[in-house]
Amino acid sequence: MRVGLDVGGTKTDAVAIGADGQIAARLRLATEWGPGGVVRTVVEAVRRLGLQGVDPATFESVGVGMPGQVLPGSTHVVHAVNLGVTDLDLAAAVEPLLGIPVAVENDVKAATRGAHALRHGPRGETMAYLNLGTGIAAGIVRDGRLWRGGHGTAGEVGHISVDPHGPLCRCGQRGCIEALAGGASIARRWGHPGRIPVRDMMDAADAGDPTARALRADLMAGVAAAVRILVLTADVDVVVLGGGLTALAQRLRDGVAAELDASAEASEFLRSLRLAGAHRTAAGGLRGSGDRRRTGRRRPGSRPESTGGCHPWLKSSSSPIEPPPVRWSPTRSHR
Ligand SMILES: [Zn+2]
Repeated sequence: MRVGLDVGGTKTDAVAIGADGQIAARLRLATEWGPGGVVRTVVEAVRRLGLQGVDPATFESVGVGMPGQVLPGSTHVVHAVNLGVTDLDLAAAVEPLLGIPVAVENDVKAATRGAHALRHGPRGETMAYLNLGTGIAAGIVRDGRLWRGGHGTAGEVGHISVDPHGPLCRCGQRGCIEALAGGASIARRWGHPGRIPVRDMMDAADAGDPTARALRADLMAGVAAAVRILVLTADVDVVVLGGGLTALAQRLRDGVAAELDASAEASEFLRSLRLAGAHRTAAGGLRGSGDRRRTGRRRPGSRPESTGGCHPWLKSSSSPIEPPPVRWSPTRSHR
């Protein structure tokens, strides 16, 4: 049995997975702060899984996804700012306490691998997973393997500025994709305390609130920009949308699709790339992680055939460890 952990800024999700690939146990606990706190959280999560009707003696390995940069080929986490971790070799700290091997991966890259495994896409498909959460980042799978780029930053689209006059980003630039469409930024700019600020903002936009409508337009424009960048730079076949914001489901998909359609309307170049498809149906081509339809290997130079949706390469996915709706915190960033 294998254990998987998603260590987030405020909570940690844990699952135990049997040889059949099915989840045998799962739980959630609060994440403790700082390197010592993260180590205690990981050990406690594994211990509690062993109290949930599965035999901890059968645990073979632990895979940990967490924010921050994981140095390639190592279990060394650096700059996990919202966990209070600047430099931590997690496996070196945890393995002696658990007695089983521990692997560590950046959380978005781990989710990318999970989305790729669940998608069962055609051989040779290049897939991008765009994580829409408190922050925004993407992972890319090419030839069945995670593509990290030269220095591990491939897919870090959140801090690409797409509007020099846009809102100030926590990175110091203006108009970053994350400043337009990240959950933390939206919550901060919306300014109304609530359990799920982004959903509240969307509801207010539907009701005609002008501030909310402007924020909603930024959200859709930011996500669409991220999708365009992934398609145009990495030439991916599929963009899978995931992360807490996908709890907005149809409203998010429709808004992003409309934004992509609009950009294609204005640009023959984008239209020629089929960034926005010619026909629109209901959510058919934009289904969740259960979507296992095969589109067939695309011919060189062509986009994959539509599976019934307006953007054949745009899919959405729930997180592999489907969480309840994320609570956006304007003060603590997930990434
Ligand atoms: Zn930024």
